[in-house]
Amino acid sequence: MERLLSPKTSEPFRMIVHGGAGRIPNDKAPLYAEGVKKALETGLQVLKSGGSALDAVIEAVAYMEDDPTFNAGRGSVLNSEGFIEMDAIVMDGSSLSMGAVAAVRRVKNPVRLARAVMERTNHNMFAGEWADRLAEVMGLELADPSYFLTERRRREWEEMRAGKVNPTREFMYSTVGAVAIDGSGNLAAATSTGGTPLKMPGRVGDTPLVGSGAYADNTLGGASATGLGESIMRVVLSKTALELIPRATDPASAAQRAIEIMETRVGGGAGLILIDLHGNVGLAYNTPAMSFAFNQGNEIIYGVGVMGRRASPLP
Ligand code: ASP
Repeated sequence: MERLLSPKTSEPFRMIVHGGAGRIPNDKAPLYAEGVKKALETGLQVLKSGGSALDAVIEAVAYMEDDPTFNAGRGSVLNSEGFIEMDAIVMDGSSLSMGAVAAVRRVKNPVRLARAVMERTNHNMFAGEWADRLAEVMGLELADPSYFLTERRRREWEEMRAGKVNPTREFMYSTVGAVAIDGSGNLAAATSTGGTPLKMPGRVGDTPLVGSGAYADNTLGGASATGLGESIMRVVLSKTALELIPRATDPASAAQRAIEIMETRVGGGAGLILIDLHGNVGLAYNTPAMSFAFNQGNEIIYGVGVMGRRASPLP
C-alpha cells in the first residue's frame, strides 16, 4: 500500500486530480504525468478566476476525457463486444446534489452530462440511450462512437481477446477524477470512465454510483476513486474513506484504511484521492502505480507514483 499526504498551506483553494490507479507502462508514464498536470492546471485556472470547486472539477475531468491517454471519453477502453460505454458522476458538497450517467455512447464529455443531470433535471442518474438523447436535447456536444476509439485501445483489446493480456491481473485502470475545495470552503468531486476492459455490454461499474466512484460533503471532504469497480462498490469506497477522516490522523490514512477494508473484505485493486474540509490532500493506492497531480501553494506536485518508489518529490 502506498500513501501520500500534503498538508494545507495558506492558499485559499486546493485541488487534486488522478488519471487512474493501475499498471502504467513505462513508455506511457510521461503522457500520464503530463496529462494529470495539465488537467490540474485547467482546474486551478478556473479556481483562480473565481470559479467554484464544482466548475473546477468539471473542467479538469473534461480535459482528461479529451486526452486519449486516459480511460474516459476519447481513449476509453472497449467492452467484450468491441464498443465503448462510459460512466461519469459529479457531486457538489455544499448541497449534496449529484448527477450521474451510465453506459453512454455519444456524449463527448460524459462529466458535463452528469452536471446537466444534476442541475437541469429532477433526477440524479440516467443510463443508456436515453441518457445520450438527454444530452442531445440539452444541447451538449455529441460525438460519433468512432471518435472515442483510439488505435492503442483497439490494439490492447485485440491482445486481451487473444488471451495475451489479463486486464484484471494487469490492473488496467485509468479512470480519471478530480476533487477541489474553493475559497468559500465548498467541496466538489467528479469521476469519469470507460469502465473496465472487456466488460460485458451494459455493465456499470462503481464510477457513477454515489459514494463509490465519488462523494463530496462540505462537512467531511471530497473523494474520487479508481480501480476494480466490482470491489469498490461493495465497500462504497469513497464514502467509507470520508467517514474515516474524523477518526484518522490525516486524509491519506483514511484513504489507506478504506482501501485496506476493501482488500481484506472483498479483494481488488484501487486508488483514492481525498481532500478534507480543511484542505489537506491525501491519496492511497494498492495497485502498482497511480498518476496524480495536486497544488501545494503555487507549486504543482505531479507524476506517476509507483509502489515502493516515487517518481516525483513529495513536499
Ligand atoms: N473504476 C472503473 C470501473 O470499474 C475502472 C477504472 O478505475 O479504471 O468501471
